[in-house]
Amino acid sequence: MKEKTLRIISMSGGLDSATMVADALTNGFDVYVLNFNYGQKNVVERKAFEYLLDFYKNKYRAPGKIIGSKELDLTGLFDEFLSLWQDMRDDGKMKEVSDHTYYTPSRNLLFTVISAVVGEIIAINNNYDKVEVGLGIHLHSEEAYGEHKNYWDITSDFAKAIGKVLHLNDVVKIDVSTPFVSQEKKDIVNDAIKLGVPWVRTWTCYNPQEEDGVYHPCLECEACVERQLAGDRAGVPDINSYEIPAD
Ligand SMILES: [Zn+2]
Repeated sequence: MKEKTLRIISMSGGLDSATMVADALTNGFDVYVLNFNYGQKNVVERKAFEYLLDFYKNKYRAPGKIIGSKELDLTGLFDEFLSLWQDMRDDGKMKEVSDHTYYTPSRNLLFTVISAVVGEIIAINNNYDKVEVGLGIHLHSEEAYGEHKNYWDITSDFAKAIGKVLHLNDVVKIDVSTPFVSQEKKDIVNDAIKLGVPWVRTWTCYNPQEEDGVYHPCLECEACVERQLAGDRAGVPDINSYEIPAD
């Protein structure tokens, strides 16, 4: 009998995770979606997330289905560290140590572990044989992110290492799924187009600009530069023409 597998995906509202959900549904997986609130660019990303979740649940045609979703509020966990972290970004300390303006300490590690915990509980409760934690990691380009282009916890070494740790679980079989690990962002844009991802409703920018009740991408941050390069290379030059109402 075919193994019953649950794919658990942290969907931020960004293009990568939206494409990962489309990919999983297209490949026939049962998908459980998590969204983490940790205080970052949250209002606008969350609006993108809510739109995408509704889209994938109710409008997207694919063999797989969304079996559930949960927004997890981690702001209480971080407490005063959120403002400390914001201060360190603003005064350049984060860039000094990481070479990235918008580095978020161990974010992907934390999300992966929480996803594994939630996935394990849902799998046991619903008789899944296996959990796959989806990691939307891909190659960052040097043009957008500089010489130290990948955050440590979005590398293939990270995916292999965390996969090894999760394999130690002898209660539920847990694996990591990294469909984009050897891809560049342009490949994800290509996949997004192919899979029918509503990319105009995704949010990528680290530094949303509000004007006349609408959020626009700043077009200057690392993520905006990366998205533009990817769009140009994938033949979608208007990839940064998106906005989300601020109400
Ligand atoms: Zn930006």
